[in-house]
Amino acid sequence: MKKTTGMDRATTRNWRPATRAIRGGTWRSEHGETSEALFLTSGYTYDDAQTVADRFAGEAEGMTYSRLQNPTVAMLEERIALLEGAEACRAQASGMAAMTAALLCQLSTGDHVVAARAAFGSCRWLVDNLLPRFGIETSVIDSADNTQWEAAIRPNTKVFFFESPANPTLDIVDLQFVCDLAKAHGITTVVDNAFASPALQRPLEFGADVVAYSATKLMDGQGRVLAGAVCGSEEFITETLLPFQRNTGPNLAPFNAWVVLKGLETLSLRAHKQSEQAVALGRFLEPRVEQAGGRMLHPGLPSHPRHNLALVQMDATGPIFAFDVGTRERAFAILDALELIDISNNIGDARSLLCHPASTTHASMGEEARAEMGVTEGLLRINVGLEDIADLTEDLDRALAASGI
Ligand SMILES: *Cc1c(COP(=O)(O)O)cnc(C)c1O
Repeated sequence: MKKTTGMDRATTRNWRPATRAIRGGTWRSEHGETSEALFLTSGYTYDDAQTVADRFAGEAEGMTYSRLQNPTVAMLEERIALLEGAEACRAQASGMAAMTAALLCQLSTGDHVVAARAAFGSCRWLVDNLLPRFGIETSVIDSADNTQWEAAIRPNTKVFFFESPANPTLDIVDLQFVCDLAKAHGITTVVDNAFASPALQRPLEFGADVVAYSATKLMDGQGRVLAGAVCGSEEFITETLLPFQRNTGPNLAPFNAWVVLKGLETLSLRAHKQSEQAVALGRFLEPRVEQAGGRMLHPGLPSHPRHNLALVQMDATGPIFAFDVGTRERAFAILDALELIDISNNIGDARSLLCHPASTTHASMGEEARAEMGVTEGLLRINVGLEDIADLTEDLDRALAASGI
């Protein structure tokens, strides 16, 4: 008997998460390769004219063109859907391609979007600049305040769009409350789950409709490729997202899909270990930062206003946290004194990386928007990697001392 492949849904849906991460979506060719095959092809050939006619008519299964389907990309899509607990998933060229597709595929002129004000800089750009250009109204709110979600709803509100934890201030959204509220008003929730990944948080379990990813972050996990994904119901993906994606083309390259497939095999191990290290490093830093008059923004520490909620919603609180050291001079002094940790704006990487959001990821949005979302001049954001925690602690200890903390 032929062993089941990871594309056999009846079987794979019974697998537990660790098995799904390794074997889900594996679609072996006639060669029986162990590792997933990389299909670097834009097109496909057919044995006869009727076969291709049937495929184009949607009456027969099979590939027709890599903007529509590609076997390596399909393997990644199936694996992400399995990890997320989603009916369907489509991979995207990057996280921003995923956010743009998830929003534009369902919005029209006259619709209204309520979005979290604490967000990745480019996500805010979509909300503040792109959507209004097409006559889509947007409101930006404090996503950690439940009453603001309710107050922002209008008769034409079509979408709620937010991250949790949010970049870079680590705001936590009450997923159950916001998803229930959206359902009661016929609003679609689009959750950017990049800071958590499906290994740590699955928003669909709380009633979210669409989960969008930068797979560049924890899913790849080794800082190699840009990638994204949109997950949702079969109906949403097939009827709303696919027509948009197939005709606008934000597709993920097969090579990048293959890299992320390999990353998913170790995602859970990395995400949990990095979360543990982030809590340990946060505990070390907190008294030092507070003594210097700064503040910690870390959902894994009891000082975070939504620490308990984070523990309910997430399996672990993730590798990223932020801390405010008061001034840009001090923040830069810390960055410049690092010997091990790199100055870098990426996150989710196995390497520890430290960045100053106000002068990098959130520089283009302007001072006023930064102030409103709490991106202060002294704020630093760290991605805690997989290096030995003692080496990371020593490096930060030295850097803090060099800055006078
Ligand atoms: C990085 C990131 C994005 C954008 O993803 P890219 O892959 O860089 O396009 C979107 N949202 C969040 C929360 C991110 O961290």
